Amino acid sequence: MDFEIIDFHTHPYKNVLQCTCIHQSAIKISIDETLKVMDNSGVSLFCGSVITRELPKTPEEAWEILKGYNKDALILADYYKGRYLPGIHVHPYFAKESISEIEKYQNHGVKIIGELVPWRYCHNNLYCTGGMDEILDFASSKKMVLSIHPTAPDDMDKLCENHPNLIIVGAHPGEGEQFERHVLRAKKYKNYYVDLSGSGIHRYGATKRLIDEIGVDKVIFGSDYAIANLQMYVDGVLNDHLLTAEEKRLIFADNAKRILDI
Ligand SMILES: [Zn+2]
Repeated sequence: MDFEIIDFHTHPYKNVLQCTCIHQSAIKISIDETLKVMDNSGVSLFCGSVITRELPKTPEEAWEILKGYNKDALILADYYKGRYLPGIHVHPYFAKESISEIEKYQNHGVKIIGELVPWRYCHNNLYCTGGMDEILDFASSKKMVLSIHPTAPDDMDKLCENHPNLIIVGAHPGEGEQFERHVLRAKKYKNYYVDLSGSGIHRYGATKRLIDEIGVDKVIFGSDYAIANLQMYVDGVLNDHLLTAEEKRLIFADNAKRILDI
């Protein structure tokens, strides 16, 4: 059976430095190669932020880099002609500037903030800070969708509570406490969704259990390309005999369309 597939969690790149693949000698790195990978895996639309593997040392340095990635994400969106929905970065130390970035990019049709990766970009690995609250109140009023790398479970819970009208998609189901807290959070907060990228779905029954616990409407397909092997995630859902065709249809595309209003 054929399914429309939207990859909600990717990191497209313009150059080698921005390519998150950690086995670069084994792959071909080019802007066009990303399209080939998406085509090969049957992905019609991909979303997410440009990031890199470099580690800035100060918030100031991080914000300069992140603003550059925002520009690159828009350049890539133009290049990919409707195949890529860019996600932009914000930074809690620069709340006013971040709000201006949201306004500017929303005028270009951008609907997603993130994936944000606080541990990498000097956010103190927290979402619940004064600066971020101000930014996300604004994002919520503008109906942006927030895609996030998880911080500590309590910080994630408080984030959902602080912004009840903001759609928040937490990445990486993981396992153990991380998985259980994703489940509890998605049950408790109507605005919280989980994307399947990263660790988690390699465990037998994990996707089915997420569906059973939080409802299929809150499970979003994501791979974390190019650090992760996209085809493995597609196959992991497509060939999961525990899932029904209807559940696959929702996870692969319909849920993402609904939250992104596309
Ligand atoms: Zn990611």
